[in-house]
Parts: sequence; C-alpha cells; structure tokens
Amino acid sequence: MNERYYKPSGRIPIVGVVVTVAAGMACAAVLGCIYGAISFYNPFIYVNFLGALGVGFLPAIVIAKVAYWGKIRNNPFLMVLGIITGLVALYFSWVGYLFVLFVSGGVFELSLMNAVALAVSPLGVGSIILRLAENGSWSMMGYTPTGIVLYILWVVEAGIIIVINSISTTGNEEPFCEDCKVWTEARDDTPLLQKQNQFELKKNLEQENYKFLDEMLKEEADPTNCFSAIFNTCPHCKVSSYLTIIRITIKVNKEGELESNTTDVIKNLTVPHSLVETFIGKAKALEELREQQVLENKADEEEEFPK
Ligand SMILES: [Zn+2]
Repeated sequence: MNERYYKPSGRIPIVGVVVTVAAGMACAAVLGCIYGAISFYNPFIYVNFLGALGVGFLPAIVIAKVAYWGKIRNNPFLMVLGIITGLVALYFSWVGYLFVLFVSGGVFELSLMNAVALAVSPLGVGSIILRLAENGSWSMMGYTPTGIVLYILWVVEAGIIIVINSISTTGNEEPFCEDCKVWTEARDDTPLLQKQNQFELKKNLEQENYKFLDEMLKEEADPTNCFSAIFNTCPHCKVSSYLTIIRITIKVNKEGELESNTTDVIKNLTVPHSLVETFIGKAKALEELREQQVLENKADEEEEFPK
C-alpha cells in the first residue's frame, strides 16, 4: 500500500490504557450480571439473542469512546481488549444467572456478600456449569436440552458476545496528529464531486496530481451519484492533513424508499494543508456562483412570464 496513507502509530499511552481497561471491564461485569439474571427469568430465546448482542456491543462502545479520550492508536490492542472484555461479560453473565438460580432455589440468601463470594470462585462457577449441562438448565415446549446440544447453544451465545465485543472496539477512524498529540477533526465542508473513474482518481491523487480534483468540480455533481471529499485536519498545526473520498449513490429501493449508500474510494491520504484550504474555497465559490445563477434564471423567467 502507498505510504502516503495514514497508518496509526500503534502507541498506547499508559493512562489511556488503565482507564480504558477499567471502564471496559466494569461495564462488562455489570451488564453481564444483568444479562445473566434476565436470562434466568426470560423464556424467549430471541430476547436472549438481543441481550447477547447488547452485552457484546455496549462494553465495546464504552471502550471505543474511552480509548478515543485516552488517545490509544492501536487497533489490534483494542481488538484483544474486546475479546478479554467479552470473556469477562460472559463470565459475569454466568455469575448473574447462577446467583439468581441459587437465591430463587433457597440455596443462597439475597446479599451482596454472597454475590461477591460466587463471583470470586471461577472454579466453583465452572463445576456448576458442568452439572447444569448434564441435567439441563431450561426447557422450552417440554424439551430440556442437555449435554452437547446445550454446549452448542452456549458456544453460540459466547461467540456472539466475544466476537461483537472484539470487532466493535475500533470504531474511531480519525487520523491522529503525532506532532501535537491530538486527533484530527473532519472539516464541516464536504464538497460534492462529479463521479469519476475510481482507479484513475486514486492513481492521480496518489501521485499528487491534485488538478484532477479541480476537474471534478467543473460541472455540478449529480447528488444521487457522485463523490464527496472529506478533509481531516489537525486543530493545532498545518502538518497533519488527510483526504478521504467517498462515493455516494442514492437509489429508490423496492419499497419505493430512497436508499443511500456510501463506500470509501480513498481513505486518509496525506495531502498538503494548502490544498485543503484552496480546494474548499474553490468548491464554496462555485457553489455560490451556481446558486446565484439559479436565482437569476428564476428572476428572468418571472420577468418574461409575470404572474
Ligand atoms: Zn498537529
């Protein structure tokens, strides 16, 4: 891949790591317990499925947000953290489930001490799970799954929680300015560009032939099938500036609704800061000129055909 594309430095600042790990684990433990307790009472399998999605997704969202705050620029690290958080959520879902099972069965009294005692004995939790697998833990329409069937269901549930957690921690795609130690910010102005051969566009921009971009402004873009330029710049310096180009298509789907689709054509290509300012300026001036012309045409028409 061309080296002019942004590549995260891989840095993981210590304060960011400590806070991100703590927040992710705490969220996973609490949500896991709640999910486990709800699964005990809830007879509907699709509610469990939605619950597993939530337990997979929410801790990952927390991790992504805190990792942004903590300036972590290492996606593999965040993915591994997501796997570990998923395992924590899964373990605590068992703790929550077993605690409610024991309390409702009169084995335990409802107290925080008993819940903590259960949570800190993973071997005990493991052996109870094995016994549940032998005898079955729930029934649906007179059928009580046990043994291998139950294990498969548990593995699917565990897979959902762990995989969703792992792939959802890396939500942030903004480039980072290593000179100023801040994330770059996407500019509000995102000019629409006439559609173009994607291969040509990529080749020209990678070779720093920015005139190619100007060509794409010449005629007004069709908003239902065009490209758009998104610039990311550092709020402090003029060194870290990046260009992303997306393709936008809007179609009417079978239900007769408008459906918009965007795909990345170019992602975070390093560009000179001067290009950002001049290009956005040009695009804005052209847009104003076109609006002006529309107004003038309208005025002319009204003059010709007065109401
Ligand atoms: Zn900077």
